[in-house]
Amino acid sequence: MLAGQGYMAPFGDSPTVGIGGITLGGGIGPLQRTVGLVSDNLIELEMVDAKG
Ligand SMILES: Cc1cc2nc3c(=O)[nH]c(=O)nc-3n(C[C@H](O)[C@H](O)[C@H](O)COP(=O)(O)OP(=O)(O)OC[C@H]3O[C@@H](n4cnc5c(N)ncnc54)[C@H](O)[C@@H]3O)c2cc1C
Repeated sequence: MLAGQGYMAPFGDSPTVGIGGITLGGGIGPLQRTVGLVSDNLIELEMVDAKG
């Protein structure tokens, strides 16, 4: 998946953590000093507001 394409998402192994919240302020862990936070690795996103 991501790794096969040369990317990684530096978040942990907690299955209850969603990609939305962790992208806003997470990624703190063993890889933080090497690759930064999740937001540091965000290349692109698609915004969808309440009206779709
Ligand atoms: C068990 C556990 C382990 C954790 N371990 C780590 C860790 O190792 N390292 C680390 O950095 N953090 C860790 N966290 C913290 C985690 O990164 C934050 O709690 C994060 O905000 C969780 O995101 P969520 O989307 O699951 O939570 P939510 O409570 O759903 O969202 C958090 C905030 O982001 C907003 N949000 C969520 N999705 C979107 C979206 N799509 N668009 C706009 N706003 C959005 C919500 O409105 C809310 O304000 C851990 C949390 C838990 C519960």
